[in-house]
Amino acid sequence: MSVPFNNSYVQLPERFYSRQSPTKVRKPELIRANPALAKLLGIDPKWLSSDDGIATMAGNLIPDGADPIATVYAGHQFGSWNPQLGDGRAILLGEVIGTDRQRYDLQLKGAGQTPYSRMGDGRAPLGPVMREYIVSEAMAALGVQTSRSLAAVMTGESVYREETLPGAVLTRVAKSHIRIGTFQFFASKEDKEALGLLVDHVIGRHYPDAVQTGASLNTKALTLLDEVMRAQAKLVASWQMIGFIHGVMNTDNVLLSGETIDYGPCAFMDTYNPETVFSSIDHGGRYAYRNQPSIAHWNMACLAQALVLVLADKEETAIEIAKEALDKFPDYFLDANTSGMQRKLGLAERHEGDEILAKDFLDLLETHQLDFTLSFRRLSELSGAAPTANVSSLAGFPSAFDGWMTRWNTRLETEVNPTRQQDMLRTNPAIIPRNHLIEESIVAASTAGNFELFNRLIDNLATPFDLTGVDARFAKKPKSEQVVRQTFCGT
Ligand code: AMP
Ligand code: MG
Repeated sequence: MSVPFNNSYVQLPERFYSRQSPTKVRKPELIRANPALAKLLGIDPKWLSSDDGIATMAGNLIPDGADPIATVYAGHQFGSWNPQLGDGRAILLGEVIGTDRQRYDLQLKGAGQTPYSRMGDGRAPLGPVMREYIVSEAMAALGVQTSRSLAAVMTGESVYREETLPGAVLTRVAKSHIRIGTFQFFASKEDKEALGLLVDHVIGRHYPDAVQTGASLNTKALTLLDEVMRAQAKLVASWQMIGFIHGVMNTDNVLLSGETIDYGPCAFMDTYNPETVFSSIDHGGRYAYRNQPSIAHWNMACLAQALVLVLADKEETAIEIAKEALDKFPDYFLDANTSGMQRKLGLAERHEGDEILAKDFLDLLETHQLDFTLSFRRLSELSGAAPTANVSSLAGFPSAFDGWMTRWNTRLETEVNPTRQQDMLRTNPAIIPRNHLIEESIVAASTAGNFELFNRLIDNLATPFDLTGVDARFAKKPKSEQVVRQTFCGT
């Protein structure tokens, strides 16, 4: 078998999905394949780049063992309830067990219409496919839990939005695509049986060690809620640490696996400002950088609500249990966020006053409009003898930082840590996927079919903590005329 499929979601009852094959495209052409990820999935990288591999990633060929489906879900989009969404432009080819023994979904995004497409064409324009490829792979290299990109192909067809754009398909890989919205769909239908099956499926797949065999459904549901909250708290804290703004934290875009998914209008913050919002449709700033933790909490409340039927027999009891569980989220987040910030500042121990020290640094960055990524990188370099490849020509601190620097240095002296600088340099990236470079690469590809910048960006972003041998251009912050202020979903 070219792809060693081992499908489990399709074993669930038919009301969880619709069988749906991808719609063939005119002229598949490979943009980029990911051989390292292919190997992890037990797929021969040579096959992936062969005609059959490309045809498969375009949806033109269904390999043996694939069982293509579109899954159903619901969700709150920008706070408004939508009783039925579903994979409208994504088709799950099947699952594989990786060499790490982890189960992975192989999904084609932009593979044509499904019963859940509503008014949509089921297709994806090239730009969003490129953005997702670049950012998801960069996130993985940055150590963030995320869906991955196995391949991107051109379809040889046009996609019609406000303008005519080249079409593409992305092969997305994730530990699963089960969302809060999947639970919400069955909860809204009061389908307790489906909720029970889904709880078992998700625990078996993502949190097998969290429950003992023979545990009741009520116990399993509560454990699942707690595990998902911990995973989300860690995930969103890891976003905050690198200035990542997701942009569409709707409940249909939150995976129970704790991976980042749906790289639509996402973007990294350049200048530190907690109010930053990029998405053109996020008028109220609902998903601004500052709000990501509280929105994650809100989303967890939606999951808890969706689990009410399986948390206890009596509704009032279930609601009490759900509320009590949800109250833990702020602590889970704070703990993950504090640990992350301590690491960014090179502090191995937690001392009183550390949180204020961190807050004062961020306040200074905001006041002086400094670049978030480069400032932390520069700080890492200043924690010892500056490494030869450094960002000193790209970032520095004005004299207003002197007082803070003295406080920080005094604090550093209170603990001996021979690997401090090394740790900091491995925590604070030098290179992130800068919006202006992503945009530039999309323009070059869409208008001139030139993928050079796209490829070089991905190659450089694979080692975000390493500046040696890297094109310095990728570490630079944008010049004022290059700053990107808005991003678009591009659906
Ligand atoms: P998203 O904002 O990407 O999370 O998408 C929200 C919903 O709209 C999902 O159910 C998608 O499957 C669906 N959708 C987005 N774009 C398209 C499209 N071009 N064709 C069909 N469905 C789409
Ligand atoms: Mg989505």
